[in-house]
Amino acid sequence: MKTVAQYIDSLRERKLRLWVDGERVDDPVEHPKIRPAINAIAATYALAHDGDEDTRRLATVHSELIGERVNRFCGLFTRPEDLIAKLELQRALGRLTGTCFQRCVGLDGINALFIATHKRDGHQRFVSWLAQVQRQDLVLNGAMTDPKGDRSKRPVDQPEQFLRVVQRRPDGIVIRGAKLHQTGAANAHQIVVMPGQGLRPGEEDFAVACAVDVSADGVTMVLGRQPSDDRRGGPDAGNARFGGQECVVLFDDVFVKNEHVFIDGDVEASGVLIDAFAGFHRASYGGCKPGNLDVLTGAADLITRLHGVRRASHIRDKLVEMAHLTETIYGLGRGACGKCSQHDSGIWQVDRILANVCKHHVTKLPYEIVRIAEDLAGGGLSTLPSLADLDHPELGPALQTVVHSRERAQALRLVESLAYGAGSVPFRIECMHGAGSPQAQRIVLERHIDWDAKVARARVLAGLDEDTELAEIS
Ligand SMILES: Cc1cc2nc3c(=O)[nH]c(=O)nc-3n(C[C@H](O)[C@H](O)[C@H](O)COP(=O)(O)OP(=O)(O)OC[C@H]3O[C@@H](n4cnc5c(N)ncnc54)[C@H](O)[C@@H]3O)c2cc1C
Repeated sequence: MKTVAQYIDSLRERKLRLWVDGERVDDPVEHPKIRPAINAIAATYALAHDGDEDTRRLATVHSELIGERVNRFCGLFTRPEDLIAKLELQRALGRLTGTCFQRCVGLDGINALFIATHKRDGHQRFVSWLAQVQRQDLVLNGAMTDPKGDRSKRPVDQPEQFLRVVQRRPDGIVIRGAKLHQTGAANAHQIVVMPGQGLRPGEEDFAVACAVDVSADGVTMVLGRQPSDDRRGGPDAGNARFGGQECVVLFDDVFVKNEHVFIDGDVEASGVLIDAFAGFHRASYGGCKPGNLDVLTGAADLITRLHGVRRASHIRDKLVEMAHLTETIYGLGRGACGKCSQHDSGIWQVDRILANVCKHHVTKLPYEIVRIAEDLAGGGLSTLPSLADLDHPELGPALQTVVHSRERAQALRLVESLAYGAGSVPFRIECMHGAGSPQAQRIVLERHIDWDAKVARARVLAGLDEDTELAEIS
């Protein structure tokens, strides 16, 4: 398993074609807008080598595939407890970094691919590739979301809006298109390309899942800009050391060798993949987001202490509300992982309904928690001068008095970052759209809830039908 230093060195060995704000960036590792996101991923490597045995056990897992302990972010869910451990690790990392640590889409993607390729052409190739990923402890960018253009049209009607196979050769395939919102792409080693939506017969060219090296010819990445971007990297950033990252990834006729093609032209396997991924990833939000919310609650609490209002009953009540909403999300994530079942492939899957309810709450409750944090923080949250002004030899003394303290200023910056600054992208907006926008969860719930069972019991208790389940009670 890689150490933090080995991970960062491995990033320097890549030859990325990366653009930031209209400029080509040759060394992403030292770039101020990228380094915080690299630091957040580095935390996943740090915990795997942590001195504390419990932490190491959480951050690593025994791989039956290669017979060694591997970083949990490269592991398969081969035991029910793996799902719980993943969630606990996500909460711990969400709390430690206060942001998105970018390895979950890849983790959920490999488990979904194991299921989707099971007993199909491509499974052996996938497993051989995964063994390499585990040995080398690689960061995987899970790439599903296509641009989609006009959402009312199918991929065949606007192929340029979907990643697709444009050529099949004896030694591999050539893919063209783009994937948007790619978490951690510029900090990854490989891109796991997957279809972004259910496909129909006739749409086989879009049914492709494969692994692409981030340095492959034809791959271009463009970093997303974010609010408060000019504050990244220093204490004024709010979160001084850690940040998230999303890129547009362009695939301009990228060749993928056969060994790295896991699904090609199989629309049914693509459907299984999307279904399995959605379950895993929607439950994931019950881990990472509560961890981020712990940080937001902590920052709000700190400000109330610095303001001398912590003991007021309405302040205590609002902090309790923040915690209660956070634990609601976490409880649903735990519930989805706890109520798991084993797929024929051996992979343990979360409960589909609870995972979707969990993610659906994530599209709502953090917004209420942010509202409370903004209430508790006061207006200084958005109007404070920069820390450079507070430290200025001329201005500083006067400002330090009215601003109260540097401690207060930095706590306010942290709330600002999570509420609507750089930290809000991998937190709030990710809560809304990551793993699918709200309607995506409602569609799954409508499909999978057993409506007839509810009606049947209601009919019995209304006296319309006989009670066959509790027949002995008169
Ligand atoms: C911070 C962040 C990180 C992300 N990380 C990743 C990642 O690592 N990998 C990845 O693959 N993706 C990632 N995503 C993408 C995420 O999965 C998508 O944003 C999500 O699936 C929604 O897709 P969209 O953004 O295209 O919005 P849309 O699908 O356009 O949704 C916008 C609105 O339109 C509605 N809508 C959409 N289609 C229809 C339709 N046909 N009819 C009626 N209404 C419709 C939706 O319900 C929603 O209300 C990330 C997103 C964010 C914000």
